Amino acid sequence: MMSEKRSVLSLGIDDADSPLGMCTTYVCAVLVENLASFVEFLDYPLLIRFNPNIPYKTRGNGGFCLRFVAEEVGVDGVFEMVLDTLVSLADFHHPDTNTGVVMYEGEEVPREVQLFGESVVTGIKSIEEGRLLAEKYGMRVFAHGNGRGIIGALGAIGNVLRNFDHTYEYMAYRVPEMWGKPRRIDRDSVFEMDRKMGQRTFNNIDFETERVLITPRGPDPVFFGIRGEDPEIVKEAAGMVKTLEPVERWVIFRTNQGTDAHLKRAYKIKEVEPYLPVIIEGEVSSKPETVQGGHAVFKLSDETGFIDCAAYEPTGAFRNVIKSLIIGDNVVVYGGIRPPNKIPITVNLEKIEVKRLAQKIVRTNPPCLKCGKNMKSMGKNQGYECKKCKSVLSKAEKIVKVLPREIKKGKYVPPPRAQRHLTRPITRENFRNITPYLLIKWWHYP
Ligand SMILES: [Zn+2]
Repeated sequence: MMSEKRSVLSLGIDDADSPLGMCTTYVCAVLVENLASFVEFLDYPLLIRFNPNIPYKTRGNGGFCLRFVAEEVGVDGVFEMVLDTLVSLADFHHPDTNTGVVMYEGEEVPREVQLFGESVVTGIKSIEEGRLLAEKYGMRVFAHGNGRGIIGALGAIGNVLRNFDHTYEYMAYRVPEMWGKPRRIDRDSVFEMDRKMGQRTFNNIDFETERVLITPRGPDPVFFGIRGEDPEIVKEAAGMVKTLEPVERWVIFRTNQGTDAHLKRAYKIKEVEPYLPVIIEGEVSSKPETVQGGHAVFKLSDETGFIDCAAYEPTGAFRNVIKSLIIGDNVVVYGGIRPPNKIPITVNLEKIEVKRLAQKIVRTNPPCLKCGKNMKSMGKNQGYECKKCKSVLSKAEKIVKVLPREIKKGKYVPPPRAQRHLTRPITRENFRNITPYLLIKWWHYP
């Protein structure tokens, strides 16, 4: 009897894009085409977004993982095909392209690799840690440039998204002749699709600015992307969009987008470090201010210290929530730590939960008993005098008035245009998609 070797492979790739227009997800889409006749895919391509606060991140900071069985070509054959595809597409001449490719062979991704994957989303990992881990588990590694791509490639392999909230994105790509030209899509059809799909898709449109968000703006090959709760839904939604230029290919990705996967850990203020995604509970301890550039800033305190929290200008109406806070409000802030520069260390706010509202109180001088006009204080404990009729009140207290608050308790998130890929939109707030995936037809190529 012939011995059958079933090789389950997990292929992770990060940073195959360049500022000049290549995009890692397109490399993935072409790889799917090149591999499809030789392998059996076990999952959708996984598009994994990493800690968005990392300063040397790639555009969008994401990598992908393909999981498949390769019998005919074997492990080495697959790896060779992958590198050939990369060489034909990636921009290896650009100094900022630090591509990493890692391939793991085995049915189950080791726990240690899964933990590494989690850390690439919620924290910071080094190239060296990635290299050592890949070596420990006998993975094949290809690194270009400084090798930083290894972190994301391994991170993508480690995020298996099993029993873990996930979403889907249908990604359509443009024919090469159109790259760099304005994207042609029927705007009304996007609004119509959004209305029909309700909360089954998300972030199609930014309603504050009426901007269509499914089409990116750069010179890359992505035509449009639709995010939603399951593969059938994003496919159906894509079918409702009227395109006014050809679609070269499309692929459905399974992703951690829209899940808050990076915001997992609660920190005390004194524990925070630059670039970490954090959750901090505390009290508003300074009156929110609008600073130059239109950013809204306040100080948050807990028993270990205080820290600035900022909602930047692009977060639009979200800043109104921040400006409505008052000293004493109890809040939970979610965001990334921006290192001190010309300004102090700051939480760049991605969302906020208002847990308890302090009383907004104003104290006014008592009114004159004779003429009703507000009186003037004559000094501390000196009583009050009416400027109009000159009557005097020697023993009187200030009048305390409780004013209504402009905000309610609850969670607030910036508008879709200002959200990170990982940010859980408000429409998903009470929803977790942990159902196992079913494979439907998830790709099309020319
Ligand atoms: Zn008076």
